[in-house]
Amino acid sequence: MFPIFFSSATDPTKGARPPLNLYNTLTRATERFTPLRTDYVRMYNCGPTVYDFAHVGNLRSYVFADILRRTLLLNRYKVLQVVNITDVGHLTSDGDDGDDKMTLALKREGKPLTLEAMHEISTKYTEAFVADLEQLHIRLPSVMPRASEHIDADIALIQTLMQKEYAYRTSDGVYFDTMRFTGYGKLGGIDLTTLKEGARVEVHHEKRSPHDFALWKRDESLGWESPWGTGFPGWHIECSAMAMEYLGKEIDIHTGGIDHIGTHHNNEIAQSEAATGRPFARVWMHHAHIMIEGTKFSKSLKNTITLRQLVEHGYPALAYRYWLLMGHYRTPMNFSFTALDAAQTALKRLHRLFVEELGMVKTGKKDPTYAQTFLLRINNDLDTPQALALLWEVAKNQSLPKGVKRATLLYFDKVLGIGLTELANSREERQSLSIVSIDSDTVPDAVQQLVSEREQARSAKDWPRADALRAEIRNKGFLVEDSSQGPQVVSV
Ligand code: AMP
Ligand code: ZN
Repeated sequence: MFPIFFSSATDPTKGARPPLNLYNTLTRATERFTPLRTDYVRMYNCGPTVYDFAHVGNLRSYVFADILRRTLLLNRYKVLQVVNITDVGHLTSDGDDGDDKMTLALKREGKPLTLEAMHEISTKYTEAFVADLEQLHIRLPSVMPRASEHIDADIALIQTLMQKEYAYRTSDGVYFDTMRFTGYGKLGGIDLTTLKEGARVEVHHEKRSPHDFALWKRDESLGWESPWGTGFPGWHIECSAMAMEYLGKEIDIHTGGIDHIGTHHNNEIAQSEAATGRPFARVWMHHAHIMIEGTKFSKSLKNTITLRQLVEHGYPALAYRYWLLMGHYRTPMNFSFTALDAAQTALKRLHRLFVEELGMVKTGKKDPTYAQTFLLRINNDLDTPQALALLWEVAKNQSLPKGVKRATLLYFDKVLGIGLTELANSREERQSLSIVSIDSDTVPDAVQQLVSEREQARSAKDWPRADALRAEIRNKGFLVEDSSQGPQVVSV
């Protein structure tokens, strides 16, 4: 028995729009989503700081935003999506201390401290970021504005805040006066008394309140001209300015990682709402973090992993997407190679099933009951683990006509984006799966020996050696695939 809001018995996506429930950090409740305009959603996802390759933890942000966008599309909304590129102004802390991350990148890569060199570096990492998105089947946003190309908009917004007396000058720039903004810290219910300056950031004697934050930072050596001297916009003002430029003064959804709630997003709210006098974003959504072997990703611990590293080690990027979808976006997840192996095996099994059982089948009509259930699950605050469970139920259902099964799985893939659509549309994709697992008895001893040496190298995280051994195995006509049951050898 399904709820009556589905007006059509055969297609749940026709007729009245089903409820889409999303958790809103602002109200701390799961709410029925309704956009400001009937069928059109304006969404801003805080984007990457392009001073280095994104690590796989960062990429959760964009897989989450992609699932959200695809879910909105499945619910027949049009979506205008902005993901900014921070190529200037993000300090190494969320407060106003530390170095600018882009300046650090210039020093790290031995480049001169010039805006041209900064542009060159940020272009390199923006391209790498876009390549990551593509590999993860993340649809490219409608707009990806670069902060460095919106300095004028930042300056105009700061001027408005100055005129309205929400901002004041100091010897090192311009600051936002948080005491003037009623309700500062409302997102996430931040207790302002616990944010004591001095514990976390250096005391700044010209600031009126410890929570005040920089809108413009003077820097005579590098930066842009402004009425307050050469320098940089603050990281927070960039997001407000770009969001409002492309999406308007009031937007529907704003997202980011949970680390953004306390400072970055509260500051975005304060600046934007002080300037316009209107609520900035109606729904604020935040994903939990990815940990690695139980600890935080951290450059100093040398435990960051990039998508390209996973691919170099033989994992398809989609296995990482699949692994992410196994967890709900608000649940912290612990990355490990064992977990990724299991995701890779499951995804491969799904792809093989799709190609072998359904590859030659003509697509029929999707099963309406399964389609409704899928929509209910994904509309329940993007419950991807439950959506995947349903996908497997369908995949294993032997009584479903094959054409219907194929159509139903392809319908799910519109949101999940785990490669079934590509398998259906591309013969090359299908052929890439036509490798045959072989019995371990028929694998020559020499190859078996290489496989066990590679396992030892993998256990010791000696990736160069593991990769070299994989190449040697390949030269002998075999492929080694990693699964939760250990390595499997297949002929090529
Ligand atoms: P950044 O490039 O540092 O501005 O971060 C890009 C995105 O990655 C932000 O939305 C962060 O909240 C998010 N992020 C940073 N670390 C992690 C992590 N370990 N797991 C998940 N998301 C993260
Ligand atoms: Zn932002």
